[in-house]
Amino acid sequence: MNGQMMYRALTTGSLIEHAEHYHASTEIVSVDTGGGIERTCWGDVAANARRLASALDKLGVSAGARCGTIAWNNRRHLEIYFGVGAGGRVTHTVNPRLTPEHLIYIINDAADEVLFFDHTFLALIPHLLPHLTTVKHLVLMGPRDEEALTVVESLKFFDELIAEGDAQHAWPELDETTPAALCYTSGTTGRPKGVLNSHRSLVLHALGGNQPDGTCISAGDALLPVVPMFHVNAWGIPFIAAIAGARLVLPGPNLDGDSLLRLLNDEKVNVAFGVPTIWMGLLAALKASDAQLPHLERSFVGGTALPPSMINVFRDDYGVELIHAWGMTETSPIGTINQPLYKHRALPLEQQRKLRQGQGRPIFGVELRVVDADGNPLPHDGSSQGLLQIRGHWVVDTYYGKDEDALTQDGWFDTGDIATLDENGYLVIRDRAKDIIKSGGEWISTVDLENIAIAHPGVANAAAIAAWHPKWDERPILVCVRANGSDVGETQLLADFEGKVAKWQIPDRVIFVDALPMSATGKVLKNKLRDQYGQVLTEEKT
Ligand code: ADP
Repeated sequence: MNGQMMYRALTTGSLIEHAEHYHASTEIVSVDTGGGIERTCWGDVAANARRLASALDKLGVSAGARCGTIAWNNRRHLEIYFGVGAGGRVTHTVNPRLTPEHLIYIINDAADEVLFFDHTFLALIPHLLPHLTTVKHLVLMGPRDEEALTVVESLKFFDELIAEGDAQHAWPELDETTPAALCYTSGTTGRPKGVLNSHRSLVLHALGGNQPDGTCISAGDALLPVVPMFHVNAWGIPFIAAIAGARLVLPGPNLDGDSLLRLLNDEKVNVAFGVPTIWMGLLAALKASDAQLPHLERSFVGGTALPPSMINVFRDDYGVELIHAWGMTETSPIGTINQPLYKHRALPLEQQRKLRQGQGRPIFGVELRVVDADGNPLPHDGSSQGLLQIRGHWVVDTYYGKDEDALTQDGWFDTGDIATLDENGYLVIRDRAKDIIKSGGEWISTVDLENIAIAHPGVANAAAIAAWHPKWDERPILVCVRANGSDVGETQLLADFEGKVAKWQIPDRVIFVDALPMSATGKVLKNKLRDQYGQVLTEEKT
């Protein structure tokens, strides 16, 4: 006999319906592509999402069709998130920072039928269009724009499109396993791969991610997701915000430190989300202006390792708690969040702070393990380092369009990260397998070296990479960006490593550069740095 409780499908339609019924007047603040501020609310977003779904029906867009977006975080993008997915189609968020070649590949691979885009990307469209094999409708996310029609003849306009839609449109009854969103990995090595989220996985991720030791968002919060809606669904924050009925502030195209500082303070944001480089930019703006952050309480940071020195500056100088989290496109993305246990309260402050540096522990819904090179599980003792594997309700099973599943034989997903887990499940990412430095048979964590370099006041950013060495195979070198006004030199910087890592782990060289090459998702492109500087030690010998 089955349980005898009501069955209601877990769909994204149920999320927006909740916000519509119980948080209709809660404000959504949106920076448009021109930088102006637009104010709307959950009720209007929900009505527009319904209008959009019915307009797509009228256009004859098929059920399950992929609808691409090339857009910033703004309210129309939010309406598309819900209108497309809850309407029985798939929102395919495309990262505009990818190369045109990757954009074309992704849009064709997804077989997008519709492509929505912000005005910022209008000039890009004529370059893509001749190569797009499946797109039938191009929709500019804005009001009618005659000038835009001179650039792309066949344009439709979002505001005109939804004006023809029905604000009372009923969401279709969907099986919760039908797909709702498609995100591609950034493909720093090889071609991008698609991860197809189901309604069920998105809803469970939003519920699981928002536990008290998760993002802990309530109707009393104002959120600023700086993490783009084209990067793993802005870490699921739009879905979490709908469940919680939180006030959302969407930053549009201006993600520089000064713009974020203004938005955080003017809009009284208390919770923010973004990758470390975003907070580096904010820090520079704070220092340059003597401003404070009177409203911001906490910010979730992940995507790459969060330097401990940044946690300290934000906490001590600005009263903001940076909360370290780990995840990936394949995990929707939330895997771990760093929140303490009851027993940690008794620890000395320094130890409590040290615990906050790692990536945290799994939220309910995912499990982690570390394994050796042969796939044998390693102990969770805080020191056994191995390949990190994950399984759970919102972890990829099979990449989009591929026949074979993406899992190990016993059903885990291998993350490509090297990590330790302790007895309470606290995760420390030591490195990505492809970045870790193998020097004379020993491993050197690039994350450790970067954390030391970035803590130096004369350094704005740093990346450690392996350089080829005739005796040791690989040796660490450091590629560094000086902080504004700093003239720190190699000897001075390397002296700072003494006593912090074993002598043989200290980098052999420091190379100062103006900027580090960054990926489309805010990660340092270490493969580029290796191409450029990987031979620097051997070149010097000859
Ligand atoms: P892509 O793999 O496409 O670059 P993802 O955003 O999916 O983009 O990246 C996931 C990877 O990012 C993880 O496997 C891990 O290496 C890295 N990562 C994410 N969060 C953290 C973190 N808090 N600390 C260290 N590395 C992280």
